Amino acid sequence: MRIEESIKLGFKDVLIIPKRSTLKSRSEVNLNRKIYFKYSNMISSGIPIIASNMDTVGTFNMAIKLSSLHILTAIHKYYNIQEWKSFITHLPHNMFDYIMVSTGISDADYIKLKEIFSLSPLLKYICIDIANGYSDHLIHFVTKIRTNFPNKIICAGNVVTGEMVEALLLAGADIVKVGIGPGSVCTTRTKTGVGYPQLSAIIECADAAHGLQGHIISDGGCVNSGDIAKAFGAGSDFVMLGGIFAGHNECEGKIIKENNKKFMIFYGMSSTNAMQLHIGEVAGYKTDEGKSVKLLLKGPVQNTVFDILGGLRSSCTYVGAREIKELNKRTTFIRVLEQENTIFNDDTLF
Ligand code: 5GP
Repeated sequence: MRIEESIKLGFKDVLIIPKRSTLKSRSEVNLNRKIYFKYSNMISSGIPIIASNMDTVGTFNMAIKLSSLHILTAIHKYYNIQEWKSFITHLPHNMFDYIMVSTGISDADYIKLKEIFSLSPLLKYICIDIANGYSDHLIHFVTKIRTNFPNKIICAGNVVTGEMVEALLLAGADIVKVGIGPGSVCTTRTKTGVGYPQLSAIIECADAAHGLQGHIISDGGCVNSGDIAKAFGAGSDFVMLGGIFAGHNECEGKIIKENNKKFMIFYGMSSTNAMQLHIGEVAGYKTDEGKSVKLLLKGPVQNTVFDILGGLRSSCTYVGAREIKELNKRTTFIRVLEQENTIFNDDTLF
């Protein structure tokens, strides 16, 4: 047994210090970013935010809306090939730039991935996603996918430490997805005692990735636009959001009505709910590592997007970053013991 003594931080442990700036207005901030991927020799362009590949967030409807706002959606892996076919048939060409195809690492997953990619040469991104990215099988799968899809942008995860980021990049990933345990409906940390505070995970994994010309996605733990700004400030190239995008009209989740109010059910992809829905049962040797919540229906996702982007532009203005890419260079965090004033938290009207 060994104890790593240095303190690891989450979003709630820091704030960003404002800096002098020559920006006159938030409207001068450009949130678009172009990113070059060395293996696939491709360039992505757009706002580097991604809707999570959870089955009530990474939906076709979400992708249609978010792509019109230049935001990516990682489509969940539970649509069948017929559903993909009818989705792709109606998709304008420019929307393919904002779609990631998610996959697990089984033989069946591989066959389905090939089928989906055979539907259109315009599909660009593959998101290889397993809960525990420390499995050797993931590295082998990434190598296999790079060999068979040499020109696609490959993202793989989830991990939280630099050496595993390097291993995945060297195996052929362009982007590594970072985050174990920070998610809004995740219970991994309480069920297993395993995890890594997200801000420190980003700082350490971004450092490892950028040294190899790779990139990272911070996945999970963002509660508000301030956290998204902190994730970019810490060095993340992309930020993936589940809970913030959940409960909207585009989510295709189950809606229930209680006391004349409409709620949408939102659950972790390792929750009992998800396992019963997609596998039919929770296998006897497993426990769930996700929970289910009901969210007051939030309406169109566009409103939430505008709110987030407004917050991000303001963060950039506070530190003098004209582009989201500059946020990392202009960020100095201070460690704090408090965040916001909570006096009216239970009384908010608007
Ligand atoms: P959020 O933005 O909601 O805080 O986090 C979303 C991320 O949580 C997802 O992209 C995924 O990585 C992770 N996640 C989703 N469902 C589960 C789950 O059931 N268990 C765990 N451990 N993580 C989950």
